[in-house]
Amino acid sequence: MRHVVIIGPQGSGKGTQAERIAPAYNLVHLATGVIFRALMQEDSALSDEVRQFVDKGELVPDDLTVRVLMDKLDRAPEDHGYAGALLDGFPRNRPQLDVLDQVIAQRGDELAAVIHLAVPKDVLTERLELRARDDDNPEALRRRFGIYFTETEPLLDVWRERGIVLDINGNQTIDQVTAEIERGLAARRTRREA
Ligand code: AMP
Repeated sequence: MRHVVIIGPQGSGKGTQAERIAPAYNLVHLATGVIFRALMQEDSALSDEVRQFVDKGELVPDDLTVRVLMDKLDRAPEDHGYAGALLDGFPRNRPQLDVLDQVIAQRGDELAAVIHLAVPKDVLTERLELRARDDDNPEALRRRFGIYFTETEPLLDVWRERGIVLDINGNQTIDQVTAEIERGLAARRTRREA
């Protein structure tokens, strides 16, 4: 399978774009934040454990995150017509990236592209302020934002060296962003086939 990662800070429109891109490319959309929130609706020891971290805006421990995600990946087989997974919200730090590399190698899969939604920080701050007003936990939202820039964004350096990053201008309309992603993925495919 050929997987794609989508990466961008809170407020970059990542979730919206992922929902459009996944069906268009036959990718199963695996969003760790969505998976954890669904899990938290359950009444179990696992959901209690996850809740402790998510409610504070902290990262769920890597071993637990990896376990939950890999279980979903194993249940998304090619015979459902999926070409791969669109990973949204994972990896978020270097240990998670290393695990992903191992898993991909073990499965004989490939990380085909990393879609990076770039939005100027002042625009993000503005969007975040608006969101924080509706959010019941603005403190956790700010913490998540901080973690993105310290732990997640630096992962781009690793992927840049591999030449798989598509830098997308996220400061456009939703349709324009989708179109830029589609152009970027098409150009990568053309290069591969050439
Ligand atoms: P998100 O909606 O992607 O911002 O995720 C919401 C929350 O889920 C995060 O603040 C974390 O507590 C948790 N979470 C999501 N993805 C991960 C991940 N890859 N590693 C650890 N925790 C995660």
